[in-house]
Amino acid sequence: MASDYITFTIGPQKHIALIAHDNEKPKLIDWCREHAEELKNHKLYGTGTTARMITDQTGLTVKGYNSGPLGGDQQIGAKIVEGVIDFVVFFSDPLTAQPHDPDVKALMRIAQVYDIPMAVNRATADFMIRSEFMNTDYQHEVINFRKNIRERAKTL
Ligand code: PGA
Repeated sequence: MASDYITFTIGPQKHIALIAHDNEKPKLIDWCREHAEELKNHKLYGTGTTARMITDQTGLTVKGYNSGPLGGDQQIGAKIVEGVIDFVVFFSDPLTAQPHDPDVKALMRIAQVYDIPMAVNRATADFMIRSEFMNTDYQHEVINFRKNIRERAKTL
C-alpha cells in the first residue's frame, strides 16, 4: 500500500525565491549583497519588483514573476507545488497591512505543506544560508498527493 508521504530531495543547487515587502526591500538587498558568493551557486527567483531591484543593485540574476500584489506570491506558491522552487526568503513586513495579505498567507501555508525551508526575517535567513544543507542534498517527506486524491475521491 502506498505511503501517506513520499521522500523528495532538495538538491545541492537550491531554487530560491526572494521576496520582500516595500519597507523590507533594503534589508533583503543588503542580505543578497552580503551572501552574493553563496547565492551565485543557486537559481534565484522573485516577485517582480524585488527581483528587479536585486538584479539592478547586486548584479545577481533573478528570474522575476509578477509583482506580489498582482499575483506574484501566488505564482511562487504554484512553483513550490510544481517542485520548481524549494527554498524561500520572504522578508514580510510585520508592521504594515498589505492589500494582498491572503496571498502572503497562502504562500506561507503552501511552503508549510510542502516542507520548504522559508525565512521570514534576516536572522532565520542567516541561519539557513550557513546551513550545511546549502551545498548538499536534503531529503524530506512531502504529502503523497496522488494517494491523497485517490483516497479522497473514493471516500467523499
Ligand atoms: P514586489 O512584491 O516584489 O513586486 O514588490 C512583493 C510582495 O509584496 O509580495
